[in-house]
Amino acid sequence: MRITEIARGLGAVCADAALAECGQCGAGSHIPCTFAPGPAGSGGPGYHMARFAAARRAGLISAGDMAAVIEAAGEFTAATVISASTR
Ligand SMILES: [Zn+2]
Repeated sequence: MRITEIARGLGAVCADAALAECGQCGAGSHIPCTFAPGPAGSGGPGYHMARFAAARRAGLISAGDMAAVIEAAGEFTAATVISASTR
């Protein structure tokens, strides 16, 4: 599947995914899974791939949102961390 349009940014998708509980690490609503290290400005709250799957199941994010996350992740497992700056 080729993504030709991403309706909204990864940051917004991450914010909605944060409403779901994470099946990977057990982080609850509104609590990030991790704070990603990185060069200035690239760090920030990160969320496990498993959490996006849970959010998708719960209807918190759309299929298009999920596709954008998967595209940003590249190769991934349930434990892969996605943050708004993941590219
Ligand atoms: Zn997690």
